Amino acid sequence: MNDIYNINRRKFLGLFGTCACGLIIPACTTVPITERKQLRLLPESTINRQAAQLYEKVKNKAEMSDDKNQLKEIKEIGSRIEESVSEYFYSLNQKDPTYNFRWEYILIKADKIKNAWCMPGGKIAVYTGILPITKNKDGLAAVMGHEIAHAVAKHSIERASRALALNVSTTVLDIFTGGAISNTSRTTGVDVAGMLRTFGIDNPFGRKQESEADYLGLIFSSLAGFDIRESAKIWERMKESNKGEEIPEWMSTHPSNLRRIQSLRRWIPEIIIKYPPIKKISVIPKIFFKKYQI
Ligand SMILES: [Zn+2]
Repeated sequence: MNDIYNINRRKFLGLFGTCACGLIIPACTTVPITERKQLRLLPESTINRQAAQLYEKVKNKAEMSDDKNQLKEIKEIGSRIEESVSEYFYSLNQKDPTYNFRWEYILIKADKIKNAWCMPGGKIAVYTGILPITKNKDGLAAVMGHEIAHAVAKHSIERASRALALNVSTTVLDIFTGGAISNTSRTTGVDVAGMLRTFGIDNPFGRKQESEADYLGLIFSSLAGFDIRESAKIWERMKESNKGEEIPEWMSTHPSNLRRIQSLRRWIPEIIIKYPPIKKISVIPKIFFKKYQI
């Protein structure tokens, strides 16, 4: 196993060099706003399509909450963030990183799961267990902003690309080429939990990606007009409620809770000034792309 891994690793390094991003341009992109370089070997359209299929399976398998008002609030917060992200990039004359997203929201009834996620392409789920911690609209917007930021920054694609380049996970390739999703159900049933993990959901991303999602999440919530000071508070409430329990993805130890709260506190004042609620300029480009782009 080690040999195979080493050969592949050598092959990878031989192909891309140690500074992968400088050498192979098509495989590298830049995260919007933070401008961090990232490796992207897999086409976004494929990944979004696979994510959408998996989202359908989650909808069929998981119990949906019948709290219509709560779901309505989630959708309202989501569409405010959606529009603000698009407007922001439009106002800068930059490509909207969400132009090809098909936004969707579900509220899963699971009072013990304190989590939320956003799959590639804008497929969002909130678990009822997180609602006592988010407590209010601003708190929920902070969590949703963080999850949406992972999708906007294409963290799942980056994670899968890295795994693929290093050949450390055949499951990743299988899922992203559609094999696992179409085949597994026939035999053992779909391992939804495992697939969510592969998409980087229910499992922490790397330290850099988590910090990046915190930072971008604050920006998106602020642009959408939410009070981002609530974000540090919900992280503290989460810390309190997690005493002695397993820690979910977004409150993971990467980066450490304390460091995370400290960073949020440091960023909040400058983000409030630098990224005030965005004025709606036009939603035409988004509608155009939504209708005509696949
Ligand atoms: Zn996260």
